Amino acid sequence: MPERKLIDDCVHCGFCLPACPTYQSWGQEMDSPRGRIYLMKSLAEGKPIDPSTALHFDRCLGCMACMTACPSGVNYEALIEQTRAEVERGHRRSTSDRLFRGLIFWLFPYPRRLRVALVAQLLYVKSGLRWLARKLGVTRLLPGRLRALEALMPPVSAGHLTAHLPELASAGGPRRARVAVLAGCVQRVYLPAVNQATVRVLSAEGCEVVVPPELGCCGALSLHAGRDEEARRFARAAIDELERAEVDFVVLNAAGCGSAMKQWGHLLAGDPAWAARAAAMAARVVDVSELLVSLGSVAPRHPLPVQVAYHDSCHLLHAQRIRSQPRQLLSDIPGLVLTELADADQCCGSAGVYNLLQPDSAREIGMRKVEAVLAAAPEVLVSANPGCTLHIQMLLRERGHAIRTAHPIELIDASIRGVSLPG
Ligand code: SF4
Ligand code: SF4
Repeated sequence: MPERKLIDDCVHCGFCLPACPTYQSWGQEMDSPRGRIYLMKSLAEGKPIDPSTALHFDRCLGCMACMTACPSGVNYEALIEQTRAEVERGHRRSTSDRLFRGLIFWLFPYPRRLRVALVAQLLYVKSGLRWLARKLGVTRLLPGRLRALEALMPPVSAGHLTAHLPELASAGGPRRARVAVLAGCVQRVYLPAVNQATVRVLSAEGCEVVVPPELGCCGALSLHAGRDEEARRFARAAIDELERAEVDFVVLNAAGCGSAMKQWGHLLAGDPAWAARAAAMAARVVDVSELLVSLGSVAPRHPLPVQVAYHDSCHLLHAQRIRSQPRQLLSDIPGLVLTELADADQCCGSAGVYNLLQPDSAREIGMRKVEAVLAAAPEVLVSANPGCTLHIQMLLRERGHAIRTAHPIELIDASIRGVSLPG
């Protein structure tokens, strides 16, 4: 149940409304942060969850732009997580909704299952079936959510199946820290080059890098969808694995995961056997850009003459308050020109699995981001979250544009190695 004390911090001033992407889309109070807090209050007072109330919560991206905008420091992040958990417990969803959510949470947190899906995707694409399905308009007949899932599939190759990540990489030069890298779920399978670049850069900057092979999902997707028991189960297993690695820092290159892992202490606060362990591990979690800036660079950078635009992931900017570090690291690359996007602090509509669960809203919000990207006309669009990258890539493809995308760490890696950015 949303905590009454947190709800009462809201003074209903409305400063958060213009920052909220869903309020911008529909102009409805109940699809604004303030409106949703009113609904939370009614839940806390005992009103049962009806389908319309659940829908207003489902439509929230969890982008936390409202937290950045709020002068009263309302902890909307905690409120929406508590509320979503209450919705999952107390609201009976339609059969199709339950089946689709079941599929998502059966698939995405499990890299082995994702690999099987990737093989199926390769067969679907390479056999020409996808081309045929699109040519005949079959994909347009799919229900909206399945259509979104099909459209989101990024280009893949057999190389995705053979991509290798070392379990241990020694520090280049004197050791400055021992760190663990979480390979993640979607990132590990669909964007393996990002993890490889992360390990190389950390090693070049004097870190001994451990990639625990059995380290699974951190629980972020589950936590952000109100599946709190499932999130706790993932968190306990991950903490157990990370404790064995005996590291100074746990380094993340996926903003949504980092934001969830920094909350492990809060997530497991009610579990006496795990509360202290979770808080201790959460305190070691850092985004890779945070760590690199705080360590200071020792590896020389080579020129990388490229014009890039940086897209702020909401879970980095609003949830973790990390804005300057990625920009600083990019600006330190000789020859790189960094262009700011209009409304850079606005969500792209990806928001975890929001683009699969609320595809129409995600598309509407995403198209605003695409307009900003096209106006900036970068050679490379840079983002620190795999979900944002895949979602914006999909919308750009649909608009007939093929702008290269990359994680900031891939640019730093290319600059350190003195190579051009892989195509
Ligand atoms: S959440 Fe913050 S900004 Fe929004 S209405 Fe409440 S106090 Fe005002
Ligand atoms: S998290 Fe984002 S979508 Fe949800 S209320 Fe806040 S600003 Fe609006």
